[in-house]
Amino acid sequence: MRTLVWFKNDLRVSDHPALAAARERGQVVACFCMSTVQWRAHDMGDWRLAFQLRSLAALQQQLDKLNIKLAVLDAPEFSDVPAALTRLCKKWQVDALDSIDEYPLNERRRDDAVEEAMLDSGVEVNRHVGDVLVEPGILKTGNGTPYTVFTPFYKKWLDPAENAVKQISPVPEPQAAFELPDDQPSQAVPDRVDGVDRTLGEERWPAGEEVAQQLLDTFITERAARYPDDRDVPALDGTSGLSAHLAVGSISARQCVAAAMRASLHSSKSADGLQKWISEIAWRDFYRHIVAQFDHVSRGETFRQDKDHLPWRHAPDELQAWQEGKTGYPLVDAAMRQLNETGWMHNRLRMIAAMFLTKHLLIDWRAGERYFMNKLVDGDFASNNGGWQWSASTGTDAAPYFRIFNPTSQGSKFDKGGAFTTQYVPELSGLDAKYMFEPHKAGVSSYPEPIVDHKLARERALAFFKANL
Ligand SMILES: Cc1cc2nc3c(=O)[nH]c(=O)nc-3n(C[C@H](O)[C@H](O)[C@H](O)COP(=O)(O)OP(=O)(O)OC[C@H]3O[C@@H](n4cnc5c(N)ncnc54)[C@H](O)[C@@H]3O)c2cc1C
Repeated sequence: MRTLVWFKNDLRVSDHPALAAARERGQVVACFCMSTVQWRAHDMGDWRLAFQLRSLAALQQQLDKLNIKLAVLDAPEFSDVPAALTRLCKKWQVDALDSIDEYPLNERRRDDAVEEAMLDSGVEVNRHVGDVLVEPGILKTGNGTPYTVFTPFYKKWLDPAENAVKQISPVPEPQAAFELPDDQPSQAVPDRVDGVDRTLGEERWPAGEEVAQQLLDTFITERAARYPDDRDVPALDGTSGLSAHLAVGSISARQCVAAAMRASLHSSKSADGLQKWISEIAWRDFYRHIVAQFDHVSRGETFRQDKDHLPWRHAPDELQAWQEGKTGYPLVDAAMRQLNETGWMHNRLRMIAAMFLTKHLLIDWRAGERYFMNKLVDGDFASNNGGWQWSASTGTDAAPYFRIFNPTSQGSKFDKGGAFTTQYVPELSGLDAKYMFEPHKAGVSSYPEPIVDHKLARERALAFFKANL
């Protein structure tokens, strides 16, 4: 039996249930579809695209070691995927297609259309769970509805997650080499796609399974114990830095949780940190469950449908100032410049920057969501949408609308002394620490005045939400 393993955002050979199942059945070939037009329509940015290409190239090397040939197919839009896969299956005389399910609406529609096309052409289809620890749809509240609040979800999630880590599939043994009827579709991973060179950001964001495993080991052995404190301090490397790898699947969430659970058995010092970290990965699963079970979220609508009518302000100049890191609020600006310069932003800063846009400036969260997707190396629809809707108070168990971070006091609290802020806002280097987050009070001429007054903006936001809910 010959199986085609269709890789998507699961660019790894370890803990890959589709690959493991296919290898058990017999011969394996592999493919990846380049859906650049669709990715761009989904706001995938250059950093993420380049990282994906590097991760794909790393996967190809791993597959070579297993004697598995990878075809890189051109399928510009998701609607082109069924025909591209059908052609390949015919050419390579494939009996079955195995892949890992993805959950946003367009991805689900694509996967369903592929299944239909395969069945029409007599190819067996096997769909696997590998992007989450617990399959969406399994966990239900007492009323039989999906969880829409994280904490009860998490309590229910832990047991099946613990079971899931026991099912990790090892890297399959290499297969014996064999001749394919037509070698043509196999090709190298492109060096350049849609004007983006695959070396973009290479030094900062090296790709591949080995790099991801190394980051995981470093986090578990060196950072986990201090994670509960350090994770909120942007000047420190307090988190794992694994998000881009999780987004393209060069490591699985299950491998991360498995390593953390194992380590917490042996180190009481790190146990709290590891538990906290596992709960962050559960947020990733949670947002995937939301996307899988509430289609309107993938259509750009607010999760809370009673909040879809909010009359957000049209303020293009203010949006631009936020995007460029020129709001006059140092921590917000440092955050946005970190994003623009590195393709990544620290989690606390994502919350602060997102709340600033949606609460201080009252600009539609969708504008921020789109901008983040365009810039993030770890851009991921479910987590990004979840984070934005949480910040805008339109989401699942969103921050209540009256929770509005004060960007000045957040600065004094989480970047005391301004080590992080001055790294990205060098205009403020050397400034007396007491003015670091209110530089207008020290009259720094090279840095903008605050775009809005915090107190007035807060009152405006409260009135806005009160009047419109
Ligand atoms: C407005 C906003 C937008 C966001 N956009 C994205 C995005 O596009 N892609 C993305 O991967 N994360 C996103 N996040 C979540 C979070 O900020 C990043 O996952 C985290 O900063 C990545 O750094 P790390 O890998 O070092 O995290 P760690 O602290 O080491 O966490 C480990 C992993 O857990 C997951 N995780 C952690 N926090 C969250 C969270 N709040 N929600 C969902 N998963 C989480 C991530 O996969 C992360 O890699 C967003 C958060 C907010 C508030």
